[in-house]
Amino acid sequence: MAAGDALLLEIRDLGVSFTTDDGMVRAVDGISLVARRGCTLGIVGESGSGKSVATKAVMRLLPANARLDEGSRILLHREEGEIDIAALPARSRELRRLRGGDIGMIFQEPMASFSPVYTVGNQMIEAILEHRDHLERRLGERFDRRSAREHAIRMLERVGMSNPRLRIDQYPHELSGGMRQRAMIAVALSTHPSLLIADEPTTALDVTIQAQILDLMLELQQELGMAMLFITHDMGVIARIAEEMAVMYLGRIVERGPTREIIREPAHPYTRGLLAALPRLDTARRRLTPVPGDIPSPLQRPAGCPFHTRCPRHMPGLCDRILPQDTDLGSGRSVACHLFGEAAS
Ligand code: SF4
Repeated sequence: MAAGDALLLEIRDLGVSFTTDDGMVRAVDGISLVARRGCTLGIVGESGSGKSVATKAVMRLLPANARLDEGSRILLHREEGEIDIAALPARSRELRRLRGGDIGMIFQEPMASFSPVYTVGNQMIEAILEHRDHLERRLGERFDRRSAREHAIRMLERVGMSNPRLRIDQYPHELSGGMRQRAMIAVALSTHPSLLIADEPTTALDVTIQAQILDLMLELQQELGMAMLFITHDMGVIARIAEEMAVMYLGRIVERGPTREIIREPAHPYTRGLLAALPRLDTARRRLTPVPGDIPSPLQRPAGCPFHTRCPRHMPGLCDRILPQDTDLGSGRSVACHLFGEAAS
């Protein structure tokens, strides 16, 4: 951990609901998280767990039918001072400056982040020029079009693109999947963000390329001292990349703490289910095949513990009636399950 454990992002009581034709959907139900400089926080969960909605909320990239709870706080601790992203007006200049400036983003499908009609270089140069004030603060350099192009070439080189002077003038569709992913990382990091949000960035890649991209991200993270929020359904990836992790289920965090500890001794029955699919965490990459059954629709949230409909340890009369609160397990760990709460004593 290069930059110690200085707090960079603090999410407090984040709640997100969607208005739909079928009713109100509660996608994120009051979660709190922290990310530290130079460290990676992994958020793991099945699709429908709310992990992607939570990170889109951090970037304020939610659709128009989404609403943040009033008490939600998304605090970014910057050198220039703290800012509450949740409180910024949706179309504010400040928010535009944060996205792609202080906060870099990479997604599973790079084609969704690139415009097909502009070259990779063009898009990088525009991003660098748009965030030139931020870059000047970080690097102490001014950028014009020519120096932005040189900076873009350096970044393409840094992410391992062969022949970056040629690649920079290519269109996204002319690059292979792995190269496009590298190009997207280069774009996201070209403004030297202090926080990188990565949402399933390697899921679509084959295992070898995935390992290379993960190593590259870790290397760049150390070099730039960034905090990273890494979203995935793949526990093997979390084990490889994240010092700390949070497990999400139906919009809530059910377990959190240092990754190594959780993997060695998972507390929550859901975490145990996720890990049971991984006989060799250090080498194998497997998709999660967690406990039987499907995650319920957020339109029909179960009463009590959200996991009780699938839990092998379900205690009738308790788990299906009372929502478990976080129990502190020590060493920075906590779990939301009646097996560990007051009800257990
Ligand atoms: Fe299972 Fe009950 Fe714990 Fe929920 S609270 S995870 S249902 S044991």
